[in-house]
Amino acid sequence: MELRRDPITQSWVAVGQRESLGELPVCPLDPDSVDQQPVILSFPAEGTWQVRVIPHPDPLYRVESEPARFAEGMYDKMAATGAHEVVIETRQHDKRMSQFSDEEIERVLSVWGARISDLKKDLRFKYVSIFKNQGALAGEEFSHAHSQITATIFVPRRIKYELVASHEWYKEKERCIFCDMVRQEEKSGKRIVDVQGDYYALCPYASRVPFEVWVMHRRHNHLFEQPRAGSNRRHLAALLGRVLRRLEKVAPAYHLVVHTSPNTRSKKGELAGYWKTLADDYHWHFEIMPIVESRSKSYSIKEVYFNAMLPEQAAETLRSLDSHS
Ligand SMILES: [Zn+2]
Ligand SMILES: [Zn+2]
Ligand SMILES: [Zn+2]
Repeated sequence: MELRRDPITQSWVAVGQRESLGELPVCPLDPDSVDQQPVILSFPAEGTWQVRVIPHPDPLYRVESEPARFAEGMYDKMAATGAHEVVIETRQHDKRMSQFSDEEIERVLSVWGARISDLKKDLRFKYVSIFKNQGALAGEEFSHAHSQITATIFVPRRIKYELVASHEWYKEKERCIFCDMVRQEEKSGKRIVDVQGDYYALCPYASRVPFEVWVMHRRHNHLFEQPRAGSNRRHLAALLGRVLRRLEKVAPAYHLVVHTSPNTRSKKGELAGYWKTLADDYHWHFEIMPIVESRSKSYSIKEVYFNAMLPEQAAETLRSLDSHS
């Protein structure tokens, strides 16, 4: 596995074959198998774990290698240095996150935060990604409820776009673009799916796929891993659970990503100049991209998303669905 940089878009791509794990006779994320493996984090720390983080058995990135760039003519490449971890979200094999209690979801959220904080202590890592692919159509790697964490020596392209755009907005208006967005959506209500306390779930104005949902805190904070004083993550957990239950009624699979600020301890790199106002201009959020049946799926023609469903209509449908079961 190596990282190659597209000289035009400047984005890094992991290229190469991963070792195959082969046919696994037992679920590698069941407690019996997991208890034999190295532990990165257990929650709770003592006694029977409810959420556990282990190294990915077939990692895309490896911690050992030193990040050095090589030139290959005009191109840049580097070893796939980084961390790749698996968060086992429950001990139970047949329980999806949408079936978790609010407390169980909150545990997973706090483990995500703890891992982001810990990985950011490593100055080599510029960004920590948390993502969850659920369902075969989403390329889910294990059927057992899990999410994945990667720490990379570059900032992923979409985050870079978001950072640049929110910085530009801030320079002009001295306001956070995400806060502005929540205020406007709050006022119109058309694209709001659900609200719990200060947390909002909404279908973004330019949704890329039908039923795309973002989950955001209405109060400003650039770091997911450091909740604002007075914020209630149980509310976030409750809202996420309801959103997932609604989405599962319209889509068999989804991708969920946590977008938070890059690692500002890493002073090197192309983004360092933006970080003076990062705490004011960036705002963490979750993006959920459901994968709907092919009949109404969105087409990416020449890399422009075409989404046949208006987000106003998507939000209305999602609001009308039962979020209790
Ligand atoms: Zn399992
Ligand atoms: Zn904000
Ligand atoms: Zn985002």
